[in-house]
Amino acid sequence: MKASRQRCLIFALFYVTLFTSLSHITLAQTAPRLDYTIGISDAARHLFHIKIQASNITRETLDISMPSWTPGWYTIRPYAANVIKLHAHASGKRLPMRAIDKQTWRIETEGHRTFTIDYDYFADNLNVNGAELTEKRGFFLGTNLFFYVPGHTTGTQSTLKFEIPDGWRIATGLKQSKEKNLYLVRDFDNLVDCPTVMGDFDDFTVTVLGKTVHIVIDPKGQITAEAGEMLRGYVSRVIESQGKMFGGLPYDEYWVLYVTGRLRSGGALEHENSTNIMLMSMPPDPRGLIGVTSHEHFHVWNVKRIKPAGLIPYDYSKEQYVRELWFAEGFTSYYGDLHIRRAGLNTVSDYLRGLEIQIRRLQNSEARKWLSLSDSSTITWLSYGGIGAGFTNFSTDYYNKGELAGLLLDLEIRGATGGQKSLDDVMRSLFEGYYQRGRGYTNEDVEKIASEIAGQSFKDFFTRYVNGTDELDYDAALKHAGLQLVGGKIADLEHVTEAQRALRKSWLAE
Ligand SMILES: [Zn+2]
Repeated sequence: MKASRQRCLIFALFYVTLFTSLSHITLAQTAPRLDYTIGISDAARHLFHIKIQASNITRETLDISMPSWTPGWYTIRPYAANVIKLHAHASGKRLPMRAIDKQTWRIETEGHRTFTIDYDYFADNLNVNGAELTEKRGFFLGTNLFFYVPGHTTGTQSTLKFEIPDGWRIATGLKQSKEKNLYLVRDFDNLVDCPTVMGDFDDFTVTVLGKTVHIVIDPKGQITAEAGEMLRGYVSRVIESQGKMFGGLPYDEYWVLYVTGRLRSGGALEHENSTNIMLMSMPPDPRGLIGVTSHEHFHVWNVKRIKPAGLIPYDYSKEQYVRELWFAEGFTSYYGDLHIRRAGLNTVSDYLRGLEIQIRRLQNSEARKWLSLSDSSTITWLSYGGIGAGFTNFSTDYYNKGELAGLLLDLEIRGATGGQKSLDDVMRSLFEGYYQRGRGYTNEDVEKIASEIAGQSFKDFFTRYVNGTDELDYDAALKHAGLQLVGGKIADLEHVTEAQRALRKSWLAE
């Protein structure tokens, strides 16, 4: 009895193990794969032609969806409305399909393991989260153009092929294959995280901390050689300053895409190894590009790798509500500005004048008394990017207040540790302890890490300033650096101690 029970257990374990490993193999083999080709149907009418080769299909129906938003730009957009003549076919025959919702279609596979999905895409929206095709050039973010299979946005490799006019060049963060105009796609997340310009543009590279940074200005002919050289210097210095804070740059290569044209408004968007910075025109002095470039580049850590848990994985089908955007954006603004100072691209006085402007903005906003940073993060979908204009007038700008919360937290940690620790340690701890271990963070994690690093509790700080609407206590934080707010100006305390002077020096790289 005992023996046979044991044997049963062993057999049971054997079958469980066998079944588990087989089912893993089966899953990997049956993950539907989409390979994409982007071509031109009619450039004068702004029509891309997209072909998707679906393979590894083992089911009777396949759902395909268009994203309804672009990560980093927290607003729902009807990208699927630009899809024209959508159809699927195999062996010269149309496959039946029907709409499931406004952005999802269900294809009857009729037993085909591979088939093709074909459509045109109307691209007449040059925008930070848009796509445009003209006879001279193309620009797109993949969230606009490409379908995905729900449940398969991560972990399935594929390719993107370009069928474009001779003489057009491509700039994108996607990995180039050995074949011309063919790119390797890690998964759908990667495909839609690589804004792409096509046509003719100015480009140059710079090596920073051993990594190649590509600087692209599209279209060509907007920058003098001298201004280009200055821009190269600014970009490399600010990236180097940021990289040193984290002990290196977290990508193989990085692409800064400055794109100008017929925009409704400017804007910039962060990606894992690139940024698209959309401008009405190039500023005459390239110094004007440093603020936005520094902010976007800092995002390679903060939000692209150090991610709110609620954004893992991305759900392209609907709003993803998170309470951490004040940290993702506000602290990126804080560090974007601080690294311009640390890189020596402006003076301490310039930096402090910038903070005064931020303080004035917040103190002039009535909404600060009503909407916390966490709540304004959650409801950002109502107003992001200028939509919901009426509402926008009454929301707490978490870029603005988040930056000032970053300032306060940094100075309080420096003050509590006699200048031994800072917010830099919090950021590094999030990068190493969360991103590198495959985890996302929450507001509570930030509070916990900051408290551990400072050796004092920040519970009250989070209750009052992050989840509550108490007025920020600027003076309490500034005094650690021997500073105070006098009539809206940041000025020295009457008596500045040596310790305060030393703390200010290490904070502002004086
Ligand atoms: Zn940002």
